[in-house]
Amino acid sequence: MAEEFPVEIGVVYEGERIRKQNMQVELGGTKVDYKAELVQCRPMDEIEDGKVIVKGKDLKDMEEGGRYPLVILVEVAGEQVERDLEAVIERRIHDFSNYIEGFMHVNQRYDIWCRVSKSSFRKGFNSFTFLGQALGKLFKAELPIIEKIQITILTEEEDVKPFVENARGIYEARDARARELSDDDVDEFYGCVLCQSFAPTHVCAITPDRISLCGAINWFDGRAAARVDPKGPNFKIEKGEFIDKEKFEYTGINKVVQEKSLGENQRFWLHTMFGFPHTSCGCFEAIAFYIPEVEGIGICHRNYRGETVIGVPFSTLATQTGGGKQLDGFLGIAIEYMRSPKFFITDGGWNRIVWIPKFIKEQVKDAIPEELYDKIATEEITTDVDELKQFLDEQDHPVKERWEAAVLEAEELEVVPVGEAFAGTRLILKNARIHADKVIIRRR
Ligand code: SF4
Ligand code: ZN
Repeated sequence: MAEEFPVEIGVVYEGERIRKQNMQVELGGTKVDYKAELVQCRPMDEIEDGKVIVKGKDLKDMEEGGRYPLVILVEVAGEQVERDLEAVIERRIHDFSNYIEGFMHVNQRYDIWCRVSKSSFRKGFNSFTFLGQALGKLFKAELPIIEKIQITILTEEEDVKPFVENARGIYEARDARARELSDDDVDEFYGCVLCQSFAPTHVCAITPDRISLCGAINWFDGRAAARVDPKGPNFKIEKGEFIDKEKFEYTGINKVVQEKSLGENQRFWLHTMFGFPHTSCGCFEAIAFYIPEVEGIGICHRNYRGETVIGVPFSTLATQTGGGKQLDGFLGIAIEYMRSPKFFITDGGWNRIVWIPKFIKEQVKDAIPEELYDKIATEEITTDVDELKQFLDEQDHPVKERWEAAVLEAEELEVVPVGEAFAGTRLILKNARIHADKVIIRRR
């Protein structure tokens, strides 16, 4: 591949970030309305192996510094290739495309965000055909069950928009299937370590009630992947003993967490963001954050551009949360997890949720208990924590029950200037709330 390919391809490029100054073009991302990646299985005779179709503006025709819609459609065929594998094959687009020098890929499904670097563009990476060819070869080399692969790249809004609308139905059907099953119905869970290239101590524990934090891999997907590619990033986790029924702690998960985090983490409590929560790599669709002043939990989606109710934007929360560390009070989650019957059940579930960006609140409306819907604040109600407290009080939000207990501990709040808090280890921020100028830490 090296001779005919204008740039290099290899694992070394995986962590490469392309900053704005070095960006030839941006594809997808928050400033572009329509973007998606999708894998579909096809009958053998329906696709042509190695074919790459580019419809719309190609890279060389795009304006320098411009932003464009993008679809990456990967069609695969093979005797062992089945529908169940589509989601996991799709998730591999993320790491394989990142192998390409000067190509950056972040997120998944309808949220993808890609950049091509100026330096790679100058070296000759000026057509999406190269992207398609590289993906095709990497997929076939790494997943031999794929016998044929055809790749289509779309860049015009008139093609991308209807594609995305249709793809949303496909993602929804995958999620809906997993909703039928509960953690108690199965004997084994699944794990994923695909993100260890970015976050070496991170491991995703995927159960029927807990979709992966990237939102791309559910229990069925983990199972399908572990079956066909047992040496790959997805593997079976024996449940082991269910040792804490409130914290949702399983010996099988703990064993895997210890092994795969190389001893960095010892245990996971599945459905809480406190104590020993799941770790977060960087692919989370949203971040849940503890708000000590109201004893509640706020949630911010990565596409929310303003400030959250604790005075910082998503990007600040993401720096704090990501990287595979176990962090009390900060947790990366998938939006689909908010639909889980075990959603933060240890912490009080929806009764603990106090603030969500409006578009997410609307998106998960059917999962929010009806009597709570109006009691949960959004950015339209407030982005100030004192006002939030007042709002929750007026609305008689169930989180108020926790306030009395919290008042008794009020003297345990410690205020630290922000520079000081960040100068130490990030773990100093356990149980903390970050303001623009100070950090409040609750000693619990
Ligand atoms: Fe796998 Fe988790 Fe990374 Fe998703 S976030 S790719 S499930 S390790
Ligand atoms: Zn990740």
